Amino acid sequence: MSTSQRVPVAERRRFRTGRPCLDFTHTGGEGPYAVWELLHGPADVARYVGALLDVELDAVDADFGELRPLRTALTNVARGAAQGDPPAEADIAVINAAAAHAPLVPRLDNGEAVLGRGTVRQALSTLARDAIDLLASPLRDRIRVCAAEDCGLLFVDASRPGRRRWCSMQRCGDRAKKRNARGPA
Ligand SMILES: [Zn+2]
Repeated sequence: MSTSQRVPVAERRRFRTGRPCLDFTHTGGEGPYAVWELLHGPADVARYVGALLDVELDAVDADFGELRPLRTALTNVARGAAQGDPPAEADIAVINAAAAHAPLVPRLDNGEAVLGRGTVRQALSTLARDAIDLLASPLRDRIRVCAAEDCGLLFVDASRPGRRRWCSMQRCGDRAKKRNARGPA
């Protein structure tokens, strides 16, 4: 089943940041992000984390012991990067520890790379490695928070000028333009 089929329409826009590690931070979290929580049990983890990596996952309750700290660390680091803040040592340690486990295994299937069925620990390693790749690249400086007041989603601005302000032009960008078209506030 494809990613889009697994995620309800209302939640699909959470998984369009351009990077799986950032999509993962949109599945919920602590403090202000608790209202976004989608992962209430293993079935949710299999559905949403499986969807954002396009893989079948075997999830169990014990996975939350690693999943939550990694998600919090990734959230801290990504939202810090969007503000120009360097990552905290404690968050880096959590990300590196997750990446040290074996990741999901890709295989070649009809000319395409697909991930084989795996465990949540493997998925978390794959997500942590994606974060390391992102944070060690120039795109680190292109991690943004959507400028729409009622949005708050992260995205990677891969545009050449690097002046993208919204997670989605179709949604947040168009609404902002309509507000501006009504005249100065
Ligand atoms: Zn937005």
